[in-house]
Amino acid sequence: MAQDLAKDQWKLVGPAEYADLYVINSCTVTAEADRQTRQAVRRALRQNPLAQVVVTGCYAQNEAEECAAIPGVSLVLGNDQKRAVAKFARTLKRPDEPGRVPVHIDRLTSLPAALLNGFDSRSRAFLQVQQGCDQSCTFCVIHRARGPSRSFAEAHVLRQIQAFVDSGYREVVICGVDLGSYTTGEVSDEVDLPLTSLLRKIADLPGSFRVRLSSIDPVHLTDDLLDLLSDGSRFCPYLHVSMQSGSTLILKRMKRRYGRESLIDRLSAARQRIGGLVLGADVMTGFPTESDRDFTDSLEVIKSAQIIYPHVFCFSGRPGTPAARIPRQIERVERRRRASILRDAGQTLRCEALNRMVGQHGSLIMERPDAAEKPGAYHGRLANYMPVRLEDPENACLTEICVQIQGVDSDVLVARVSPSE
Ligand code: SF4
Repeated sequence: MAQDLAKDQWKLVGPAEYADLYVINSCTVTAEADRQTRQAVRRALRQNPLAQVVVTGCYAQNEAEECAAIPGVSLVLGNDQKRAVAKFARTLKRPDEPGRVPVHIDRLTSLPAALLNGFDSRSRAFLQVQQGCDQSCTFCVIHRARGPSRSFAEAHVLRQIQAFVDSGYREVVICGVDLGSYTTGEVSDEVDLPLTSLLRKIADLPGSFRVRLSSIDPVHLTDDLLDLLSDGSRFCPYLHVSMQSGSTLILKRMKRRYGRESLIDRLSAARQRIGGLVLGADVMTGFPTESDRDFTDSLEVIKSAQIIYPHVFCFSGRPGTPAARIPRQIERVERRRRASILRDAGQTLRCEALNRMVGQHGSLIMERPDAAEKPGAYHGRLANYMPVRLEDPENACLTEICVQIQGVDSDVLVARVSPSE
């Protein structure tokens, strides 16, 4: 969106700065996310009461009229229209002109054709290879906001990655709403998952770069895919798994594609095949009917699989979903209590894992200078996703560097350039 707006001479400013146009790319995964969008609109208008405010993203896609009714909103754009935000911004009226707020919502069947130039930092680029989802998990509104599953053509993906690598990016993150459902439309006898075949071709591209997957459903962690990901020279030893729960009963009520046993089996297969694997996972607490036993099942999986980056969130009944209609809802305070136990478990595991890294060497991709406390220091991540603060600022001009871990400072590894460099 920033690239599209730049073509019309819009200049991106920091979040705390005054702006004439605010584009709020909303999330709707929980009721809290919807509230944050409404709050972001109010914050923008406090900064500049005469600003134009565009709301787009999943909340806009699913609840367009609700977004249009937020005081001060100038325009509502659906998920497919947002990449053409500049075109719509040209049609905006003055904020004080009366009239209905324009709403442009689409049918979510297309994929953008444009190539992007890369983002996030000077060294890491994100590439969406798949959009939408054909599942209908009972708690989820995302498949409604993103439409059915559709995939980018293989040639487009390979061309895009080569363009990133040629312009200096050292890491490419492969993204999708339901990444494992990537398909080229061709059936191959050789692999059980078209994503594996795509990743194999990506791995064969020339150049020095590493590949990371954004997140993956446990059902897609096939042996073929794990064998491919075990190639540490190309793939990052990090997986973020969309786990949601460790209880078979709850997974069934969520309408997930796997049960507890196969979840544990796939996580352990990943651990066996990928050397030095670090695991993260999305986990939900307080799904309706979740008993203490179900909750303990989730906790046990986090501990036994050593999920050091659990992304824990509390169930939030989204209007229109089957889960919101289940009679036995869990009290909000209990959902939060359970979430906090899982986060604490993750924190303990993470602390141990970070400390085990002391003395080890790794390849660091540089991201940004340290905000304030350590002038001159730089931050980046190892291939296994662990964050690192590099204390030798003279090497900050490099995008990738081999470091040795010296210690741990709360959740961050502290490193120096490896003596072998
Ligand atoms: S897999 Fe389930 S949770 Fe994930 S986007 Fe699809 S419906 Fe939602």
